[in-house]
Amino acid sequence: MKTIVVLGAGYAGLRVVRELVDHKANAKIVLINKNSYHYESTQLHEVAIGSKSPNDISLNIRDVIGNQVDFIEDEVVKIDRQNKKVELKSKSTVSYDYLVTCLGFESETFGIKGADEFGLPIIDIDTALVAKKHLEETLARFQSSHDENDLHIAVCGAGFTSIEYIGELLHRLPDFVKRFNLPAEKIKIYCIEAAPKVLPMFDPKLVDYAVNYLKNQGVEFYTETPITEVKKGAVISKDKAFNANTIIWTTGVKGSHVINDSGYTQKRNRVAVQNDLSSSDDPNEFIIGDVSAVPSPDGRFYPTTGQISVAQATLAASNIIAKLNNQKTSPFTYHSLGTVCSLGPTNGVAELSFMGHWKLKGHKVAPLKRIVNDRTVFELVGFKAMMSSK
Ligand SMILES: Cc1cc2nc3c(=O)[nH]c(=O)nc-3n(C[C@H](O)[C@H](O)[C@H](O)COP(=O)(O)OP(=O)(O)OC[C@H]3O[C@@H](n4cnc5c(N)ncnc54)[C@H](O)[C@@H]3O)c2cc1C
Repeated sequence: MKTIVVLGAGYAGLRVVRELVDHKANAKIVLINKNSYHYESTQLHEVAIGSKSPNDISLNIRDVIGNQVDFIEDEVVKIDRQNKKVELKSKSTVSYDYLVTCLGFESETFGIKGADEFGLPIIDIDTALVAKKHLEETLARFQSSHDENDLHIAVCGAGFTSIEYIGELLHRLPDFVKRFNLPAEKIKIYCIEAAPKVLPMFDPKLVDYAVNYLKNQGVEFYTETPITEVKKGAVISKDKAFNANTIIWTTGVKGSHVINDSGYTQKRNRVAVQNDLSSSDDPNEFIIGDVSAVPSPDGRFYPTTGQISVAQATLAASNIIAKLNNQKTSPFTYHSLGTVCSLGPTNGVAELSFMGHWKLKGHKVAPLKRIVNDRTVFELVGFKAMMSSK
């Protein structure tokens, strides 16, 4: 019997496993993930603010994959493609006939000095908890320090994660003010972005809405402001300094470092794959999710999103089953359902492609993110898990 090894139990990995089991793939299936749990990365900013606990956005992998899948809780260190083996941190190795690599994303610092040391990324449960602890401790310290920089928060980047973080932060600020007895008028939130535009994936009118909504609550936006250095307590852009004792680093992501460590031809740890999602070096290896660069019909690559990762996973599983049955694989095609960016739990902007093209803003958007998230969990693991992840 052939062995299919799936690396990573994020959106892509769990979906692959689920599809392989549902379609009764005639193979041994092994899933390797560094934690015992799957987390909803689209909700990490809520853990970073403290609106949700890790339990609210996590699922126990063993509970949801069933007993047809062997689960190994270990960290992948390297993929030895020549010998078709995966090397693990525990020093053991796992051999494969088919491999699905979906190890997800890491924070990108673009080599900016000090970003690693002083910026707080939000890329998994651990980093979200570090960001939460730092924010709370820094705000609480103001009572004794009287240092106004303890009340300043610099959010680096103005993409999806940055804006969703700021929206959630504003929602929780009244609680923080009360809890830590803070002078609300002295709190400052900077959003610092190199590009000319905030939320570049959205229609300009929706961007204006989002920016004005956040500005009206005191957020200061600095676009066309490339960050040149991060220091303890300050974000530097050329000769300008933004003093802040909480620096959230959400400027963008790259793929897992395992890609580079394993010698793939890659850009920002993303491997350009064939249109059936297989590697150009090995037709039995599929690379999907945030570690892949998948060509789209317009000649560019698809963006890396949870929604696209799930669609890729469905195809990768069906292509492996096709190969097991000596059939031809199919190319990746994708129809986006749209994008939703929350501005806290009660507001947001959305562009939806469902029975037409819809541009939505305001309170009616708030439940959409929830519906999209619930749908993803439901499709991944079923109703029971969806209810238990609340
Ligand atoms: C705050 C935030 C909000 C977002 N909102 C949206 C949204 O609204 N809509 C949307 O479509 N996308 C959104 N995204 C993007 C989306 O989360 C990613 O595109 C998606 O998670 C990628 O899925 P993946 O399966 O490739 O990787 P991941 O979800 O990152 O999963 C990778 C898995 O691999 C594991 N892993 C990593 N390294 C190793 C290793 N060396 N060994 C073993 N296991 C390892 C990780 O623990 C994880 O379980 C958001 C991202 C963030 C951070």
